[in-house]
Amino acid sequence: MTRPLVSLEGVTMLFGETAAVSDVSLEIREGEFVVLLGPSGSGKTTLLNILAGFVEPTRGRVMISGKDMSHVPPARRPTTTVFQDYALFPHMNVARNVAFGLAMRGVPALQRRQRSEAALDLVGLSGAGGRRVHELSGGQRQRVALARAIVVDPRVLLLDEPLGALDLNLRRQMQEELLHLQRHLGTTFVHVTHDQDEAMNMADTIVVLNEGRVEDQGPPARIYLKPATRFVATFMGDSNLIGGTVTRRDDHGVTVATAFGALDLPDRDLREGKVNLSIRPEQIVPASGDGFAALGEGVVRECHFSGTHVRCRLMAGHDGDRELQVHLPARTAVRPGDRLNLYVDPADVVALAG
Ligand code: ATP
Repeated sequence: MTRPLVSLEGVTMLFGETAAVSDVSLEIREGEFVVLLGPSGSGKTTLLNILAGFVEPTRGRVMISGKDMSHVPPARRPTTTVFQDYALFPHMNVARNVAFGLAMRGVPALQRRQRSEAALDLVGLSGAGGRRVHELSGGQRQRVALARAIVVDPRVLLLDEPLGALDLNLRRQMQEELLHLQRHLGTTFVHVTHDQDEAMNMADTIVVLNEGRVEDQGPPARIYLKPATRFVATFMGDSNLIGGTVTRRDDHGVTVATAFGALDLPDRDLREGKVNLSIRPEQIVPASGDGFAALGEGVVRECHFSGTHVRCRLMAGHDGDRELQVHLPARTAVRPGDRLNLYVDPADVVALAG
């Protein structure tokens, strides 16, 4: 294994009584696109500021390229930050904004110009160097902020909700552009967002934060399909949480008694006793497949067409008193009062740790 480019070791940040970040340990590989994801107040910006050196953690260490950065000021770290509000200098034109970091580092004028033009080319703003900042749209300003950050060739680019102020279409377009830029440069990106779709679209690794702690970390598909905790299961999209009891285990898996019947799951690590299961709404289907488990009958209460699927709320379970969220294919004709037989592939059922 190669050494990680960045490691956070037991990092805690206290603001008075509030632990904004609580005992976070993380390793980030060179060239990785990491997304810090979590609800408002979960500690994302604080963690990014600790990486940038804008705040010094109360406890723990920040290592970059094997060097302890804990007491190194921002300007002497191999990092640059792109802020949500762009933080451009309004009195300078685009070229001088982009070249600012190079000027601070004493790079000669000719090189400054060449490198700034190359950075503007990379963000799709060729020839815009002479324009004033106030003449630019939000998307263009964000591109200038990006050019200003990449021109100094950082080892790690830190992005604090850089797309938060853009409308949905532009945000999607910028997500793709950022991803292409990151792949082209090979620079390590650490990107903060509270938008689950954005995280899934962009990340190699998602780090899910909740109340200053890491709840889960891994590739988007694993985080979505096999969330580690109850918080992750419900924060990353919708989920049906079902309580159960493990009544039997053998070498092939376990049997879990639930209000929807006994489910045989291929989970060999579960102990006997109480367990919480998570099933995504699109994983509950109204027709059986090979090896599927029956969840019994459900009565449709509400349905809404949402373009890609029909969102339904059903009542099900032995006593008909358990609610299930089910996403049916968009063309399904279904109405309140309809009765559906429900099934799930046991491989899709997740036993949650917490
Ligand atoms: P958002 O998505 O709303 O920006 P976040 O996940 O980035 O939230 P942080 O801004 O890191 O969260 O804040 C985490 C916690 O730390 C919050 O409870 C916040 O109020 C607190 N906090 C952050 N900065 C300070 C500060 N300078 N002084 C006091 N408390 C702070």
